Amino acid sequence: MPFTLEQRAEWRRRNRARRVEIDGRLVAAYLPEERHGGAWADHGCQCEPCSAANKAHSAASAKRRRARWYARRALVNGVLVSPDVRQHGTTRAYKHFGCRCASCGEAERVGKIETGRVRRAEIRARRVMRDAHWFSPDTPRHGTWTSYSYYGCRCVPCREHHNTHQRQRKTS
Ligand SMILES: [Zn+2]
Ligand SMILES: [Zn+2]
Ligand SMILES: [Zn+2]
Repeated sequence: MPFTLEQRAEWRRRNRARRVEIDGRLVAAYLPEERHGGAWADHGCQCEPCSAANKAHSAASAKRRRARWYARRALVNGVLVSPDVRQHGTTRAYKHFGCRCASCGEAERVGKIETGRVRRAEIRARRVMRDAHWFSPDTPRHGTWTSYSYYGCRCVPCREHHNTHQRQRKTS
């Protein structure tokens, strides 16, 4: 194992150069099997277990970073406001810095609606006509409220579900 930081960096570089491409991923095939899942940092291995470990690690450090920003917030008029936000009224300020001031909260609310609207339009655009009714290929489960209203599916189970629902609402 190398000692200085420079030596370590050099060692890592050399390890990376030794990787071979397997199914479009650069894999440190020179390592024994039991090393995989932890060889992404030192060896740049992109095999499935190593990539998964890498992903989990970056997710965890992003979470830690966010927790640090969140901890710096202060209560102002009953809401948590971040002193690190340079521009309020953005979804980034809301999510990344956790700023809950009125303008950041509004930005997040509008952003959510906007994303929902775009996604809904995309989903609906992908529907196909089947037996003279719209059918959504994206629906995870037919015959559900989500499928009918969100995905806009009008297949037999979805319409049936919707109809029974309507009837129930009227009678109750
Ligand atoms: Zn690996
Ligand atoms: Zn704010
Ligand atoms: Zn359906």
